[in-house]
Amino acid sequence: MRPLKMVDLELERRFFGPRVESAVLEVLNHTQFIRGPEVQAFAQALGEYLGGIRVIPCANGTDALQLALMVLDLRPGDAVLVPAFTYVSTAEVAALLGLKIRWVEVSLDHFNLLPEGLEEAWAPDVKAIIPVHLFGQAAPMQEILEFAQKKGIAVIEDTAQALGAEYIFPSGLHQKVGTIGDIGCTSFFPSKNLGCYGDGGAVFTFSQERAERLARIANHGQSTLYEFAEIGVNSRLDSIQAAILRVKLPYLDQMNAQRQAAAELYTLYLQDIPELQLPQRVSWSTHIFHQYTLRVLDGRRDQLKAYLSERGIPAMIYYPKPLHLQPAYASKEYPPGSFPHAERLSQEVLSLPMHPFLSEDQIAYIAETIHLFFR
Ligand SMILES: *Cc1c(COP(=O)(O)O)cnc(C)c1O
Repeated sequence: MRPLKMVDLELERRFFGPRVESAVLEVLNHTQFIRGPEVQAFAQALGEYLGGIRVIPCANGTDALQLALMVLDLRPGDAVLVPAFTYVSTAEVAALLGLKIRWVEVSLDHFNLLPEGLEEAWAPDVKAIIPVHLFGQAAPMQEILEFAQKKGIAVIEDTAQALGAEYIFPSGLHQKVGTIGDIGCTSFFPSKNLGCYGDGGAVFTFSQERAERLARIANHGQSTLYEFAEIGVNSRLDSIQAAILRVKLPYLDQMNAQRQAAAELYTLYLQDIPELQLPQRVSWSTHIFHQYTLRVLDGRRDQLKAYLSERGIPAMIYYPKPLHLQPAYASKEYPPGSFPHAERLSQEVLSLPMHPFLSEDQIAYIAETIHLFFR
């Protein structure tokens, strides 16, 4: 059996090998490393894949979130709603722009933010909400949209872990996540479902005006050559990364389906272990399994992780500390105990290896080892 990894980029490299190599070679030959034709071509293709939205490429997913906050003209003193249990980027950019963060409680079942938590977190200074579609499954967008509309605030979707997942409206309509709120953001970090071989990110919007301004902000706020209309940043997707992403995008649905097949096998093999809560599927979303994340309910999460590690099985804790308790973000307003679900999840979650190239043998071995631990 092949040694286990959380994400096996070597197998991916073998799958895409010559196709990626010739795409990269083309860029090396034309030497337009920045703003090469691949960047717009990829943005166009991704926009079409997402249902005809405008895609503004940028340097990484964190920048995408920052660009979204900047184009909404949020100002120091404004506040944003952010789930307490997520990756740090979501909060970091808000803090960097001088915004106040109001945390929102999350669900113990699906790990995304809890609609009931929104009203609790609400204050009149809130100008936007950033739902994160965590681990590959959509946040409860219908409730989030209704809340945002009622309060007159913007919705920025953090789609870094769920590119290709679909939200299912009560009417039955399917829509790609990242295209539902006012602005969508994503990351092409190598381990994401659509990853490049370096850093990359993008912002999505249906508004042409907003798209033009996002592109301008990402390019130093430059309106015409050496004319700077507003303060911007330097955030670009480079031509080589765009060329790689163009090769990979047509395979995104296939790769996500392979993740789903792996997840189904995990669930089949692990469903009879009462100490585990397996990933809970929600009715309002497809699940593209960026992560396959368990809750270990008997308090032995860390022992299980060590046990697996000794047997050659990597597992990761996403995330070991909720953001409201991180030294950089802690405040008297949110003492320990403020978000019991987020705090409990940080003690109980464990993510198993997950990528499109997991073999049945590997999954069976992981499941068998987990069974041995609980026997
Ligand atoms: C990966 C990730 C980001 C940041 O993406 P980078 O490209 O690494 O900056 C933001 N939010 C979430 C939820 C992520 O998983």
